[in-house]
Amino acid sequence: MQRRTFLKHSLQGASALLIGPALLHACDKNEQFSDKSVLVIGAGIAGLAAARQLQNRGFKVTVLEAQDRVGGRLRSNRSLGIAFDEGASWIHGVQGNPIATLAEQAGMTTFHTDDESIKSWDLGGGLRADSLYADQEEAFYDVLDTLMNSGNAGQSFETVFNNKYPQYANDRLWKFFLSTYLTFDTGDLNKLSSLLYNEGEEYGGVEKIATNGYDTIANYLAKDLQVQLNQRVTKIDYTAGKVRVSHNGTTSEADYVIVTVPLGVLKNNTIAFTPSLPANKLNAIDKVGMSCVNKFLLRWDTAFWDDVQYLSYTPEARDKFNYFVNVRKFHPSVNALMTFAYADYARQTETMLDAEIIYEVMKHLRDIYGSSIPDPVDFLRTRWNSNENSFGAYSYTAVGTEMRHFDDLAAAVQDKLFFAGEHTEIDYFSTAHGAYLSGLREAEKIIELQ
Ligand SMILES: Cc1cc2nc3c(=O)[nH]c(=O)nc-3n(C[C@H](O)[C@H](O)[C@H](O)COP(=O)(O)OP(=O)(O)OC[C@H]3O[C@@H](n4cnc5c(N)ncnc54)[C@H](O)[C@@H]3O)c2cc1C
Repeated sequence: MQRRTFLKHSLQGASALLIGPALLHACDKNEQFSDKSVLVIGAGIAGLAAARQLQNRGFKVTVLEAQDRVGGRLRSNRSLGIAFDEGASWIHGVQGNPIATLAEQAGMTTFHTDDESIKSWDLGGGLRADSLYADQEEAFYDVLDTLMNSGNAGQSFETVFNNKYPQYANDRLWKFFLSTYLTFDTGDLNKLSSLLYNEGEEYGGVEKIATNGYDTIANYLAKDLQVQLNQRVTKIDYTAGKVRVSHNGTTSEADYVIVTVPLGVLKNNTIAFTPSLPANKLNAIDKVGMSCVNKFLLRWDTAFWDDVQYLSYTPEARDKFNYFVNVRKFHPSVNALMTFAYADYARQTETMLDAEIIYEVMKHLRDIYGSSIPDPVDFLRTRWNSNENSFGAYSYTAVGTEMRHFDDLAAAVQDKLFFAGEHTEIDYFSTAHGAYLSGLREAEKIIELQ
């Protein structure tokens, strides 16, 4: 996700975040609550942050993770010899961002990505003048700054935008901005709230992309934790004193349970709660949106593209392989590009064969660089929508979402069942830092109950 500058710049929350990694460290070996047990469901960054915080305070903590590795949506594929981050790639704004601190502690290396290092081509392969691109980009951000004033609770961003700016609806460059600068960060524009599309806080400072794998942070947080892998939780029963959790034909119990599975998993009802979750939480699960973004890595023996960080291409179709990250910029010996599909087109790619996807991507690149450029020698892809561990990429404010729904998603039930994960973080939902913060927040709630 390439979170752009239109989101409100704010350092609010930075102080809370700054204490995150420091607090984790300061509380090491403080064994105050050793008679209390906690089960954490999910070993993504939210679950790992919560587990570490609680273990450092002396709780008996076990993490149950459905997959064969920790990290969840911090997932790095190293099969081509470099880390292809299938989920999070960027640290969005390093100033005050706890992920920046964690990255340093964990040894996650990064590269400063510069949005200005971009070239844009139109359909037909014509290179756009930088000044035209920059002017239109500014106009686009002006529209994003004000469109919510015309928004309303019942209408999507797309409906309100098309009514107000019909002249831009079919403009290919505007379609690119809408896709890469908005849909990428949020969700399908025909479902995105016209009132709340730019909710969420943002850290200042530069954007950095992970170069040796975002999962470095997850592996660091998981050190010395009791994580049981390949344990898929199917039932959580909080009727009795202790909470009972069913996984792989076994039942474990604990004083507290923190549920950190993604919103998509909650929406799919793959975990049965007894008694049923409160109505306001069920409503929030329904109303907050879950987006889809898919990522694709293509590698060649030799590079044929321009020496800039980003390539932009503007086909008629929206959300389709229109943005390329030049991987050579941070791995000079690797001739690779990373590209994306968003929203409905991203879901559509999940049923396409590799060859079909490569054909479509190459059509775009051949329009720019000519028909003689070769097909890639390697190809990697994601399928986040059909992934049973997330059923989507991240949460967003859909039509029908109200900001209080994020608090409802975060609310504890009977002081026994706690909820963390990016979708529970009202200020920083949809991000790695939001997920991390949510884990610390729920750990603090449990500590305060003692
Ligand atoms: C394509 C993509 C690009 C992104 N780009 C960025 C970016 O550049 N920067 C950024 O800040 N953020 C980005 N994000 C968002 C970021 O990755 C997430 O917000 C964050 O990793 C979520 O962490 P989490 O702990 O809330 O959830 P997860 O990481 O999803 O952790 C939940 C865990 O629960 C497990 N689980 C699911 N069901 C069960 C079950 N029944 N039993 C047991 N375990 C279960 C899952 O396997 C998973 O490990 C991106 C995400 C995606 C998908």
